[in-house]
Amino acid sequence: MSKIVIDNAKKVFGDTTVIEDLNVHIPDGSLFTLLGPSGCGKTTLLRMIAGFNSIEGGDFYFGENRINDIEPSKRNIGMVFQNYAIFPHLTVKDNVAFGLKQRKLPKDEIEKTTEKYLKLMQIDQYKDRKPEQLSGGQQQRVALARALAIHPDVLLMDEPLSNLDAKLRVDMRQAIREIQHEVGITTVYVTHDQEEAMAISDQIAVMYGGEIQQIGRPKELYHRPNNTFVATFIGRTNIIDAKLVNHDGKAHLQFENGQELAYPLLDGAKDQAIKVSIRPEEFMREADGEFEATIEDSVYLGSVTEYYVTIPGFNQRVQVSEESTFNEDLGKGDTFKLAVNLQKINVFTADGSQNLL
Ligand code: ATP
Repeated sequence: MSKIVIDNAKKVFGDTTVIEDLNVHIPDGSLFTLLGPSGCGKTTLLRMIAGFNSIEGGDFYFGENRINDIEPSKRNIGMVFQNYAIFPHLTVKDNVAFGLKQRKLPKDEIEKTTEKYLKLMQIDQYKDRKPEQLSGGQQQRVALARALAIHPDVLLMDEPLSNLDAKLRVDMRQAIREIQHEVGITTVYVTHDQEEAMAISDQIAVMYGGEIQQIGRPKELYHRPNNTFVATFIGRTNIIDAKLVNHDGKAHLQFENGQELAYPLLDGAKDQAIKVSIRPEEFMREADGEFEATIEDSVYLGSVTEYYVTIPGFNQRVQVSEESTFNEDLGKGDTFKLAVNLQKINVFTADGSQNLL
């Protein structure tokens, strides 16, 4: 097991620089996710860690060992991919034993380790089957058992759940998290699915355009995003144009219709145009709420109901969510009053690049 340190990484394909100068420290034993939209560079970075991509600049370390010039097969990594990549002609058991046989370990050790990981991944009852006789989720368990059986220093996973249906994805991500904790292996996990990332990760690096936008625990990213990209990519939010105005050192949020709310969290800050991020659940329906909302549409989702509303002074339609109640049936044209939980919202510079809190 080892921490992974990446200093000043650079990746160039032909004459295109995909990653300019990327730095990340991944703590020993943690599950660390690279999250971002398609094309942001997460697979490229993972392949640099694995050794499948050349490195055009910077230093990569596993623990204290610089691995830039170590070939992939010598880096002692386990890998799990989207498409399982297990051998169709081998049984489940032989798939799991594969890496151990390659390493020419003693027979009884191979047997013992294989059994251990078959059990750990709960696939021992299928050990004599061929992969084609397994479901996608079971095949992915085989891939994970095979990757872990060699006792790698790091585990790399690239969209491992993308081929599974929604229900199985949720089950498998739970299984991966539990196994990862149990084995304690430093894991780098690539996904474009923010919900999956939130559910599974100790820490997440949100990437965009080859750059890391923010690294943090899921809660930090959700509650204190660095910029509007992270605020909108992690969970859902309403980004509202507004102004910060100062009356005798007391800060106020001023919306486009002139309505103001005292905002003590930024007392003393200078007057400026801002973007305010308010998540749907940070609106509260209250009889004396400051905002008059008119429903455009409502969506019932079981535990919560989402409303799409217009609010005077807000430059766009706004999403509001609240716990569903059995009796209530509000629809288009109905109105209610909303307050905002000011302790929870975020306030950014007008270009969205910086959180003012
Ligand atoms: P996805 O979720 O779609 O896989 P990603 O975030 O993993 O996206 P990468 O596959 O890392 O993105 O790609 C990052 C950028 O590098 C993209 O613009 C892509 O077109 C480019 N790229 C990746 N591999 C190559 C290659 N072998 N040659 C040229 N350009 C490449």
